[in-house]
Formats: sequence, structure tokens, C-alpha cells
Amino acid sequence: MIFFIFVQKYYDYIIIGAGASGLMLANALGTDPYFKDKTVLLIDKDAKKTNDRTWCFWEKNEGDFDTIIAKSWSQIDFYSKDYGVNHKIAPYKYKMLRGLDFYNNFLDKIQSYENITFLQDMVTGVVDHNNYVDVTTQSEGFRATRVFNSIFNYKLLHQQTKYPVLQQHFIGWFIKSDKPIFNPENATFMDFSIPQKANTRFMYVLPFSETEGLVEYTLFSAETLDEQEYEDAIKKYIKENLKSIDYEIVEKEKGNIPMTCYNFSAKNSENILHIGVAGGWAKASTGYTFMNTNRKTKELVAFLKKDKPLSSFSHKDRYWYYDLLLLDILYKDNSKGRRIFESLFRGSSPQLIFKFLDEETNIREDLKIISSCPKSFFIKALFNRLF
Ligand SMILES: Cc1cc2nc3c(=O)[nH]c(=O)nc-3n(C[C@H](O)[C@H](O)[C@H](O)COP(=O)(O)OP(=O)(O)OC[C@H]3O[C@@H](n4cnc5c(N)ncnc54)[C@H](O)[C@@H]3O)c2cc1C
Repeated sequence: MIFFIFVQKYYDYIIIGAGASGLMLANALGTDPYFKDKTVLLIDKDAKKTNDRTWCFWEKNEGDFDTIIAKSWSQIDFYSKDYGVNHKIAPYKYKMLRGLDFYNNFLDKIQSYENITFLQDMVTGVVDHNNYVDVTTQSEGFRATRVFNSIFNYKLLHQQTKYPVLQQHFIGWFIKSDKPIFNPENATFMDFSIPQKANTRFMYVLPFSETEGLVEYTLFSAETLDEQEYEDAIKKYIKENLKSIDYEIVEKEKGNIPMTCYNFSAKNSENILHIGVAGGWAKASTGYTFMNTNRKTKELVAFLKKDKPLSSFSHKDRYWYYDLLLLDILYKDNSKGRRIFESLFRGSSPQLIFKFLDEETNIREDLKIISSCPKSFFIKALFNRLF
């Protein structure tokens, strides 16, 4: 008689998804000597060989990604209908990273760690059996003590009504113009001078040189648009605001980031933690995720050393409530965004706004930020939440 013994491959940790959060976590585990005896499997359905996004974030002085930064700006512009301001943002810089440079750099590093294996395969199932977790892919099955999952599913957000769900949705064109049309020193953080059409709509412009830049049409709203509408708006902006009709579209990017205070951690268990956008690491009020993921990864690595259940990793703080009020306002009346962001930039310095969005302010600074916004909107939203 012949017996087949099926031995499932075992890892201490499995990371699902080699995007921003998966790669940052794998790299953090690979560089920390504490984890040198832990085996790690990183799985992604893609080879991560395309430049599918551009990441921007603000940061004080030098940072973890400086060797792969493509461009940084020391000044930002903010525009609204009858208002415009240019700010020097020192000690911050607004930094830009090309997705492909990040994937190449991090995958190279990860391949040099002996205890980490990268596998290209599609994950089809993840089940926590209390003492271990089974992860199934299209071609194999694996078992792990702990699993970090970055697969995000919008459906979960729409299956509940407790928390409003907005989307930060955008299309951007990387253009090259015949004549100088950009000021490469200034990034346009938000340009609300464009028609709002009862939404929160703005243009985001990242100039790389006098003739090259990214022009992105962005909305914070519940519904996405037809692709043509984003493209028409970009074309109009380049013609009317940048005064150009002779340019080449070199590349395009398209994105959609959830803006919600939904309780993502409810899906975590003792041995499974959702990370990245899937773990609620996208800042609900802005969609900025990259630097938050860097911070959360550091917190997570310290947390893993305590060997506590993964379900106790996440917690709510006062910033969660601030974000919730803003989303309640924009969900109820999406046209209020322009007024809120304009008041914010009129009443506070970008340095204080960045500090607040990084959730590093003290209560006195919070009050300064909040009082610069239209108070009646927030009082009404607070009242509606409480009662
Ligand atoms: C175009 C774009 C631009 C953005 N720009 C910014 C920005 O400027 N600043 C900022 O802070 N944030 C930005 N974001 C938001 C956020 O930083 C990114 O979405 C970021 O990539 C989120 O990281 P993540 O790890 O959660 O998800 P991802 O990076 O999307 O990684 C998830 C990974 O899971 C893999 N995967 C999915 N399903 C499976 C499966 N079944 N099996 C195996 N693998 C699977 C995917 O292939 C992917 O590699 C942007 C997002 C987009 C889409």
C-alpha cells in the first residue's frame, strides 16, 4: 500500500500583497534582527513591475525613502475661487516617489533576506483556525502562525450604513509641453478654483520641470464619474490655467482611495491583521496613506515583539472623531468641501495643517485648526452624531 503524506508548507508569518504596506512590513521584518529566525512568505498576484502610481507625502528633513525620491518641493500653492496662497513649508518638504522605483528597491532588498520568500500567486482564501491560519492560493496551500492581509474589498464598506463612505477618486495626466508652463518650485496642493458641480473637486499639479508635470483631477465624493469627465476637466485646466494646447500625454494614472471611518479592525482576528488600506490605514479625511503606513509598520513591528493577539493592535483616537465629522459634513452636502478647505488654509499655516493631519498636534493646536473651519458645519455634524 502507498501512503501519500501531504505536508503543507509552514511559515511564521505570511504577508498577503506586495504593495506599499506588504513591502514595508516585509522589509521591516527582514532588517530587524529580532525576526531573523522567523520565516516569512510574501505573496502577490502581480510581479510589481509596472509604474501604477505616484506617491506623495510631506516629511520633515531627511526620511526613510530619500534614496528613491524622484522630486521634492519646498513650496506649495493652494487656490480657491477668490483666494490663492503660496507657502514655504520648511521644515517640511513635499516629496514624490514613483511606484516602480519603490517596488524595485524594496523587492531587491527583500530578496536579500534569507528568511523571506516572495511568491507570485493569487490568494483565494484565508481562514483563522485559532492556533494557525490557512492561506490558499490558486496553486498551493500554506499554513502560518500570523497573517497580514492587504487585500482590500470596497464591498465591505458598502454593506454598512453606520459610517459614510466617500471616495478620493482621480485621473492624472503626465504631460510634456512644447513651451514652459510649470513652475517646478511649487506643487499645487489643491486648486479649488475649478467648477465644483455640487461636489468637492480640485486640481492637483506636480511640476517636475518647466515643461513636464502631473495634472490630476480629484474629487472627494460618494460616486465616481465617467472617465471622459475627468479627462475633459484636465484638458480644460491645461488650456485655461496652464495656457497650453501643445503637449503630449506621456502617461496616465487613475486611483480610488476610500475615505471612511468604517471599523476596519472588526475583520481582524487573533492571528489575522488587515494592513494598508484594507486595515484602515488610509487617513479618512484626506486619503493620504503612504506615510501613515510607514508609521503603522513601525508600531506593528514593536507590537509583534510583545506576542499579543493581533485583534488588539488597532485603536481609535480623537483624530478618528475629527475625520468622522468632516466626512459626515461632506457626505450630507458634498459642495461644502471648498469652503472648509479654503477656511483651513486661510486660518492655519500648512505646517500646522500637516502636523494635524499627521495626528501629532496638542489640544490647543487642534482647537486652532477646528476654529479656523466654519464652526456651524461642525457643531451641526457633532449634534447629529450625538443625537
Ligand atoms: C494611483 C494612486 C495614487 C496614490 N497616491 C497616493 C499619494 O500620493 N499619497 C498617499 O499617501 N497615498 C496615495 N495613494 C493611496 C495609497 O498610498 C496606495 O493605495 C497604497 O498603494 C496602499 O497600499 P496597500 O498596501 O494598502 O495596497 P496596495 O499597494 O494596493 O497593495 C495591495 C497588493 O495586494 C495585491 N493583491 C490584491 N489581491 C490579491 C490576491 N487575491 N492575491 C494576491 N495578491 C493580491 C495587489 O496586487 C497589490 O500589490 C494612492 C493610491 C493610488 C491607487
